[in-house]
Amino acid sequence: MTFDAEHPDRPNEPGVQERLLELLARERIPATFFLQGRWVEAYPQTAGLVVQAGHLIGSHSFYHARMPLFSDDGFDEDVRSAERALVEIVGVDPRPWFRCPFGEGADDPRVLARLDALGYRNIHWNVGPDDWDPARTPRQVEDTVVEEALAKGDGAVVLLHTWPSNMIAALPGLLARLSDGGAHFVRLDQLPAFEGSAGRG
Ligand SMILES: [Zn+2]
Repeated sequence: MTFDAEHPDRPNEPGVQERLLELLARERIPATFFLQGRWVEAYPQTAGLVVQAGHLIGSHSFYHARMPLFSDDGFDEDVRSAERALVEIVGVDPRPWFRCPFGEGADDPRVLARLDALGYRNIHWNVGPDDWDPARTPRQVEDTVVEEALAKGDGAVVLLHTWPSNMIAALPGLLARLSDGGAHFVRLDQLPAFEGSAGRG
């Protein structure tokens, strides 16, 4: 389970992020959170709660811009600004974990090379239920995650966001159904594909 924490692009229900953390704690589910630097600056207490809960922390950039659109200097500045915010505000070095906003740049050699030079690797997803889309229902989000994650099996990387009402409405049901389906929840650094990545750079 991976969760992107960022400034929502529309009004959102208050308290969802706290309820998410409570639910993961109650169900003892370790997850990976990609935190936007500017969001961490705006919500240092919530960001601190994510870290204290023991989840793996990655960077979701600073401005949540489309990474391929940056100049080289602008790219590096954005990534370093996010890193600085995470280190200074919540005491976590997010390297090597990075997720490109909107997933843009995931297949762009220039973006991947710049991330690598800065000590990062981009983490894409293979299960994306579009929980941010208000046109979808919680049931659709739940069904998409359950069906696609169980079909994928080992190495399923589920993308959710920390703020949508659809996410928090769908999460209890989808976690229960995944557990019933035999899923075992781990942080990204516990997946065989990524083991040994921690501490690099
Ligand atoms: Zn995002």
